Amino acid sequence: MPWCESCDRYLSPNSVSVVGSCPGCGERVTDADGVPARSQKVPWHFWVFAGAAVVYLSWRLIQGLWMLVA
Ligand SMILES: [Zn+2]
Repeated sequence: MPWCESCDRYLSPNSVSVVGSCPGCGERVTDADGVPARSQKVPWHFWVFAGAAVVYLSWRLIQGLWMLVA
């Protein structure tokens, strides 16, 4: 479990920011054994949005090319 020395409290892994810092004081958070807390994994919904963006942009590209040949 991530531990913030400055705030003197445990943090839920989800509340630790992507870069592994405390949301309260911004200090780097260490795990219970003293090693820096691992940064959060990229959330699954990020890939959903990324995939949707790729599909959308591909569609717009196809549309644009279609306009050129039509
Ligand atoms: Zn803190």
